[in-house]
Amino acid sequence: GPQQLHMPTYAGLERYKLLSMLGDGAFSTVFKALDHNTNETVAIKVVRKLEMNSGQRSSILKEVQLMRSFQHASIVSLLDFIETQHFYFLVLELCEGGELFHQIVHLTYFSEDLARHCIWQVAEGIRYLHEEKGVVHRDIKPENILFEPIPFMEHHGPKPPLQQEGHGDKAKVDEGGFISNHGGGGIGKVKIADFGLSKVLWDRQTRTPCGTLDYLAPEVIKDGRYSISIDIWALGCVLYTLLCGFPPFYDDSVDILTEKIIQGSYSFMAPWWDAVSDDAKDLVSHALCLDPNDRYSIHEFMQHPWMLNQATNSGHEP
Ligand code: ADP
Ligand code: MG
Repeated sequence: GPQQLHMPTYAGLERYKLLSMLGDGAFSTVFKALDHNTNETVAIKVVRKLEMNSGQRSSILKEVQLMRSFQHASIVSLLDFIETQHFYFLVLELCEGGELFHQIVHLTYFSEDLARHCIWQVAEGIRYLHEEKGVVHRDIKPENILFEPIPFMEHHGPKPPLQQEGHGDKAKVDEGGFISNHGGGGIGKVKIADFGLSKVLWDRQTRTPCGTLDYLAPEVIKDGRYSISIDIWALGCVLYTLLCGFPPFYDDSVDILTEKIIQGSYSFMAPWWDAVSDDAKDLVSHALCLDPNDRYSIHEFMQHPWMLNQATNSGHEP
């Protein structure tokens, strides 16, 4: 397509050939690229230094340092980092499946098995960050959760029977895309991306966050303080969204949305939540606690009956 015809070239990036555009952000563009040295495809996040102030630049360098120290299957790994006069290049492990966000839009919502398969892997990544690294991600949301699809052949093996439970009977198998709402195959490997570049930045004048509010914990909105428990709030928002197809807190008006989050006012709305198990609702409600001290830790989250239920069926050990 036209995207392929007009790939830019960058001085200092000769080792890689840009193939197509994967994403676009405030200061950066992400490309799929071929690594000439290894003949493997990668993702390259091109960050435009000139559009950033010194604080923003140093926070990128800080995040790059953090990412270098991560080594986990549920976290997109940083393969290389290059700095030139005008750009930072973050060479990343490629997730061919793209954003979880697009799969929610595509499927409308996930079966409980598929949601568990995804959330389990995200939770493993968060447990690694919280317990091994003492790091808070601060921007867990479906746009920053990527996946590596299961191989085509594997997916087109014998199809599991339709599930009567949950939403299993509603979703269709997508012949072109790799994701299915039917049972064990799942979505492939799920990975957390985007460490810090698009974390919530506070506008000094208006004292409001610049990013999206939808997944932001109430204590951040109220006084800007946060701890690792904001990731659990966000994880609860993601789980809620996976199970019904829309986020727990939403309004076109930022003021009303802010008020809803501060009040912690969400509900399991009929008819969308009627078929969802009580276990799933119980887990969501322990993540969406207003008081961060009442909120589950990542350890408690992963020990919840819903998370442990059929865990071996969806391809991972509890
Ligand atoms: P930001 O949100 O700060 O612009 P991200 O790191 O979230 O930057 O990247 C923007 C988008 O680019 C992601 O939402 C995703 O669609 C795509 N993307 C980023 N990293 C990868 C990757 N490793 N593999 C595939 N797509 C990616
Ligand atoms: Mg992002």
